Amino acid sequence: MKTLTVLLTWLLGLNLPTVFAAAPKDLETERAQMVAQQLKPRGIRDEAVLAAMRRVPRHLFVPEDRQEQAYRDTPLPIGYGQTISQPYIVAYMTELIRPRAGMRILEIGTGSGYQAAVLAEMAVEVFTVEIIEELARWGQANLERAGYRGVRVKRGDGYFGWSEQAPFDAVVVTAAADHIPPPLLEQLKEGGRMVIPVGSPFLTQRLILVRKEGGKIVTESLLPVRFVPFTRERP
Ligand code: SAH
Repeated sequence: MKTLTVLLTWLLGLNLPTVFAAAPKDLETERAQMVAQQLKPRGIRDEAVLAAMRRVPRHLFVPEDRQEQAYRDTPLPIGYGQTISQPYIVAYMTELIRPRAGMRILEIGTGSGYQAAVLAEMAVEVFTVEIIEELARWGQANLERAGYRGVRVKRGDGYFGWSEQAPFDAVVVTAAADHIPPPLLEQLKEGGRMVIPVGSPFLTQRLILVRKEGGKIVTESLLPVRFVPFTRERP
């Protein structure tokens, strides 16, 4: 097979190993399995979320040497001490904020760009902030390569949100803070939803659902989780 591939590569001038490796059918199957085995049995119901998870090419959001592991039931390292979340956690957080077409959604912690891509796939306007310059660039490049050109990426300390683009229908924070940053609450619309892991960076954290209702902030503590720490810009 290998000799044949080399021969055909030479004869046809095609990069056959790449063609085979990227056979879209296999990846579609892997995504369908991810949805059927990791998301549905754990209670993800929103059809629009499941459809987005089935479509976004997660392998384009992990480092090249991790592509084979992209659809596994686990977070993966993306460099700079950061990780792309486990597919289930991405689906769960997405379901919690109830994205609907046309909404404006703010993400804090672009990382690989994967969570932003899942939101963009649901026809929402996505604004995402990343504190690490290299990841902001890599995340943006991944989004462009995967065809999500409408996502707006900014390098900055997400503690302050993105005031020029506020208010938002929903906010999703993908790094664990020890408190809910007040600027993010301010930038949330009335009736809006925010999901954020809160707790000590190295001990227990919980995913918190925040709702702004009648000018009041209502919080609900959900799953225990483990996220990378929410860092702050040094003055
Ligand atoms: N949503 C990402 C997850 C990346 S991990 C994905 O789908 O891949 C969390 C990210 O949050 C890291 O890239 C980290 O650098 C970033 N981060 C941490 N503190 C931040 C802050 N104050 N502002 C913006 N990004 C932050």
